[in-house]
Amino acid sequence: MPELPEVETVRRGLEDVLVGRRVVRLVVTGRRSVRRQPAAELVERVTGRRIERAERRGKWLALPLDDGQVLVVHLRMSGQLLYVAEPSSVPRLSHTHVVAGLDDGAELRFVDPRTFGEWFVTDEVRDDGLPVDFDRLGPDPFVETVGAGRLQQRLAGRRSALKVALTDQRVLAGIGNLYADEICHSARLRPDRPCEALSPEEVARLSRAVGRVLRAAVKARGSSLRDARYRDLMGELGGYQLHHRVYDRAGEPCERCGTTVEKLRIGARVAYFCPGCQT
Ligand SMILES: [Zn+2]
Repeated sequence: MPELPEVETVRRGLEDVLVGRRVVRLVVTGRRSVRRQPAAELVERVTGRRIERAERRGKWLALPLDDGQVLVVHLRMSGQLLYVAEPSSVPRLSHTHVVAGLDDGAELRFVDPRTFGEWFVTDEVRDDGLPVDFDRLGPDPFVETVGAGRLQQRLAGRRSALKVALTDQRVLAGIGNLYADEICHSARLRPDRPCEALSPEEVARLSRAVGRVLRAAVKARGSSLRDARYRDLMGELGGYQLHHRVYDRAGEPCERCGTTVEKLRIGARVAYFCPGCQT
């Protein structure tokens, strides 16, 4: 499922092609893609509005509109946003559930085979123009630096495994299964370590690893896994999968120490780690 680096890559694409454009037509055909309000209400409130900015917090995309509302999109498991400059020459893929027609003739298409993704519009916004809903999210480590002290505070008193905390959107926004494993490896920490047992030095290592891994992954335009489900706005694959050190690499040697990467169960989750260099 897309995490911070993939959603940031999509956001950058939206910033390039969508900002300043007006939505002249919105068609919702997927029954599950709009759940917080009737689809007809979304269509009515967004049609005719100009998109002012393309923002992201965690895995959420937010498109502030020219009347103060915000159009919000979450890709969840399998959602893709595709930009099509000449819609008449590009057939719609199956599982296309929402189509926004823009005033320059282009289309933004939302394809979502598993239908967990969602669109909604809200006028409940904060001073920064983003939805008040986003108050539930922890800091986004790509938007703001989350230094060792702040991370220590957010992990303090948590008995849960490090991986569980890293993927909790209230602790940090944007990290999921894949990047949590890569961050733990980069920080040389086992993903099943209880948070409360981490030393200040280990938390400092962790905070540096969060920034390092996410920056590198954004630079590589995210990770496309074997199912090739993640693609950017123009349909291109990401490149960070070539840099994964542990995720989905059980049985392969660790590139840092040569030990065989293992798979571990943490509650309902699976984590990949190197027992040689992660302690
Ligand atoms: Zn290792």
